[in-house]
Amino acid sequence: MTTAVTADSLVSRAADLDAADPLRHCRERFLLPEGTTYLDGNSLGALPAAVPDAMRDAVHRQWGTGLIGSWFGGDAEWWGLPERLGDRVGALLGAAPGQTVVGDSTSVQIFNTLTAAARLRPNRRLLLTDAGHFPTDAYLADSVGEMLGLEVRRVPAAQLREALEADGDRTAVVAFPAVDFATGERWDMPGLTAAAHAAGALVVWDLCHAAGALELQLDAWDVDFAVGCTYKYLSGGPGAPAFAYAARAHHAMMRQPLTGWTGHADPFAMRGTYEGAAGIGRARIGTPTVLSMLALEAAIGAFDGVDLATLRAQSLSLTGFFIECCDALLGGRGFEIVTPREPERRGSQVTLRHPDAVKLVPAAAERGVVGDKREPDLLRYGFNALYNTHADAVRAATTLAELT
Ligand SMILES: *Cc1c(COP(=O)(O)O)cnc(C)c1O
Repeated sequence: MTTAVTADSLVSRAADLDAADPLRHCRERFLLPEGTTYLDGNSLGALPAAVPDAMRDAVHRQWGTGLIGSWFGGDAEWWGLPERLGDRVGALLGAAPGQTVVGDSTSVQIFNTLTAAARLRPNRRLLLTDAGHFPTDAYLADSVGEMLGLEVRRVPAAQLREALEADGDRTAVVAFPAVDFATGERWDMPGLTAAAHAAGALVVWDLCHAAGALELQLDAWDVDFAVGCTYKYLSGGPGAPAFAYAARAHHAMMRQPLTGWTGHADPFAMRGTYEGAAGIGRARIGTPTVLSMLALEAAIGAFDGVDLATLRAQSLSLTGFFIECCDALLGGRGFEIVTPREPERRGSQVTLRHPDAVKLVPAAAERGVVGDKREPDLLRYGFNALYNTHADAVRAATTLAELT
């Protein structure tokens, strides 16, 4: 009886909160299947409504009619996409123009960026990276370490400051995620960046679970390097290209190992030896994946006019309300909330633990509530403040209650 009353009151509170949502006009910027509560935008963002027409134009007009002329001519100007889109993404990262490029996969950008960063500290032999980092970040740190002869030490993010106190003077690079992909815990980017700098080390932040979800200030926080994907909160589409940010202060000295021809100072001179472009352009590698980039360009328009402080406040309202719904509806059913309850320690997802997670996630999806699982026992529900609602949060918790 009390549970039913609580569920009803949550439904009505959700309606009030959604009616007052300053971003509710953004929902129609996405095409979501009727009846689906989509809480997996932290893996693959929903389809922005502008993308299908942009793809049609890209294929029929820009490619079909413009042919090779679209690389440099007309309004398409494909060649400039990595920098042009880089600036659009950079604006969401607190990065002034000319410091971000888009291209290749996150994994490629991690390799290129970690190596470039470590080469700027040639006399230091230690790379500190997160013990809980996403697998590709961990594997690539090991590979870069092997290639450059660095010791790679995995440290829990909560112990990074201690590690820097002990071995900061040997540390070349500190490579951590802004938000833990599994638990949804957000780390103190400005504070940890300052701690790394105090030790003389450089930072490489992975922003996969932060870009488009948090208010970031890469320039103001004095971040050296950052990478991230665009298919999660930025909704760029499956396989959308990654981004790499390098602070302007490093441009003259940084040397990326993937010296592809499009990062050359004068690519069409077709010279026999590499000379990197003067600015962020040297982080370009090969021919841009134009169709994916045009999808991302259309997708990112969903952020037009969106103030990131408002977005963050809405995201915290959604995840906070979901935690409240879980507390009210899932008590005694074997769930534990893994994500920190303090708002400043959350990204934009809530992770639950349950021994039957592997069965519960697909069972909830069958009932229209889509999230994802991380074996053996985690359920992840990501909230994108541009299209998710407080009603989604109640429905997700109610569905999990019905299944347990
Ligand atoms: C999603 C994610 C990736 C993905 O890397 P890809 O090369 O795009 O497959 C990497 N790192 C982190 C932290 C992620 O969350």
